Amino acid sequence: MSASQLQRVVTEIADELRTRTDRGTVASYIPELARVDAKSFGLAVIDRDGNAAVAGDADEPFSIQSISKVFTLTLALGKAGDRLWKRVGREPSGTAFNSIVQLEYEKGIPRNPFINAGAIAVTDLILSGHQPKEALGEILRFMRFLADDHSIGIDEAVAASEQRTGYRNFALANYMKSYGVLENPVDFTLGVYFHHCAIAMSCRQLAMAGRFLARSGRNPATGHAVVPPERAKRINAIMLMCGHYDGSGEFAYRVGLPGKSGVGGGILAIAPGTASIAVWSPGLDVTGNSRLGQLALELLSKRMGWSIFG
Ligand code: GLU
Repeated sequence: MSASQLQRVVTEIADELRTRTDRGTVASYIPELARVDAKSFGLAVIDRDGNAAVAGDADEPFSIQSISKVFTLTLALGKAGDRLWKRVGREPSGTAFNSIVQLEYEKGIPRNPFINAGAIAVTDLILSGHQPKEALGEILRFMRFLADDHSIGIDEAVAASEQRTGYRNFALANYMKSYGVLENPVDFTLGVYFHHCAIAMSCRQLAMAGRFLARSGRNPATGHAVVPPERAKRINAIMLMCGHYDGSGEFAYRVGLPGKSGVGGGILAIAPGTASIAVWSPGLDVTGNSRLGQLALELLSKRMGWSIFG
C-alpha cells in the first residue's frame, strides 16, 4: 500500500473516532494525569520506508508512562543480557499493573518486566553503578536517539505528582527490597522509575522511537543495529504477551500485534517488518488501557491487514 493510501486510512480512523463518546476514564491515581483533556486523540504510523502518516493530536506530547518500560527493558538487556531474567520473569501476569498479591506468591520476583514491580526491578538494574541522575540521563538520551529528536523531555510536574502519591509502587519496591531483588536504595530506584514514566512524547516521536522493533532491531534511518534481530523478536514477544497487563489477551485477540500501553492513554504497537505505530487517547478501560487507542489499532490492523497472525 502506498504512503498516500496509508495516510487516507489513518485520517479515516481518526475521523471515525473523533465523535465517539465512550472514551473510558482518564487515570486519576496520579493527580497530574487527571488534568489531561479526555477528548485528545492522536495517531501516527511510520512505515518501513520511513513515511509518516499522522492524524489528530499526533504532535502533542503526552505522558508515556508504562510505554517507557519497552525502552528500559531494551537498555537493561543491553547491560545485563540474559542475567536480567534472574530478577524478573517473562510470563503474562493476568493481574493488574500494580498488583501486590502475585509478588508475595512469587517471592519478590516479578512476573514480567512490564507490570510495575517488574519495571521497577529493570530500572534498578539500569541504576546499578550509577547515580540516579546519570541513569535517567542515559534513558532520556536513548529515547532522543531512537526518536531522532532532541526536544524530548520529562514532565517534572507528572514525576513529582507520582512521587507524592506512589504509595503502591513504594510498597512493591520495599517488598522486592526485602527479598534482595533490588540492589539500590528504594528511593533512588523509584526516583528514576517515576521520572522515566513521566517522559512526555507525541505519537509521532513515539512511533519514531519504535522503528527499530519493526525493523529487526535496526534503526532504518541509519541502518545501524540498535539491538540484534533476535532481541528485537523477543522484546516484541514480551510486548504481545504482557504489554497490556490483564488486558493483554484481549489486545492480542482484537489487534494481533505486539503493543505496550501506558496509563497516560498511549499505546505503542509494532507491525514487524512493516510499521511502528503510536496512538493516544487518555480515557482508559477497566484494565488501564486506552479504550479508543485499542479500537484505533484494531481498525488499523484490520484495514491494513497487519496482524502478525495473518
Ligand atoms: N507510572 C505508572 C505507575 O507506576 C505507570 C503505570 C502504567 O502506565 O500502566 O503506576
